[in-house]
Amino acid sequence: MRVLVAGDDIGSGAARRRGWALEGELLRPPSPPCGDTACGCGQRWTGLASARAAQTGVVAELHLEREGLLAAFVDALRNEGRLGDDENDPDDEPDWVADLVDQHLDLARAHPLATVIDLHDGLPVAAFRQAS
Ligand SMILES: [Zn+2]
Repeated sequence: MRVLVAGDDIGSGAARRRGWALEGELLRPPSPPCGDTACGCGQRWTGLASARAAQTGVVAELHLEREGLLAAFVDALRNEGRLGDDENDPDDEPDWVADLVDQHLDLARAHPLATVIDLHDGLPVAAFRQAS
């Protein structure tokens, strides 16, 4: 399945796009803000494993289905303290989590492998790049 993972830093000088996520980790699209105004999770990609911000995502192919991706999003958000872990409480797996998974998959499906997807004001913009 086509997914979005953290890319390496691209560009140089003032145009260099910084990211702190680990190269190759799955990314969560900008999410409903968590309440910490300094956090930036509403404007940046967030690495599922590291919980660190990324400026650029890259389309990659991974052996993973939608259910597995949804579970990874839920696990990451629980680890970040954004979600509770009561399976019987619908607030602990709210609709916006599934919406983020679908945003992720729609973006990945819409672009060829190795496409760089940048964020401008929190909205994704594809920047095509030759696969190396
Ligand atoms: Zn946040």
